Amino acid sequence: MTLTSTPTTFHIHIPVRVLLSYGDKRLGDIVTHPEGVDGARKELRQMLEKGKQVLVCDSSCDNRNPDGSCAGHSSAKTKAA
Ligand SMILES: [Zn+2]
Repeated sequence: MTLTSTPTTFHIHIPVRVLLSYGDKRLGDIVTHPEGVDGARKELRQMLEKGKQVLVCDSSCDNRNPDGSCAGHSSAKTKAA
């Protein structure tokens, strides 16, 4: 096991199948969708059809694996000074 000097952070992600198993209230607490939880479920099913198994709970995530999960972000800071 090798420790890298660059720390990597990951966004929290939840398996789509887990989200689909949640009830209205619980799902509504996690995802917001203009069409409500029914719209959210429709979109989650579309994700599964496209091969996305995981939903990242942060739309700012710009580095995702093909399955939809967060691939990690280097948190190394570039010092401008
Ligand atoms: Zn991410």
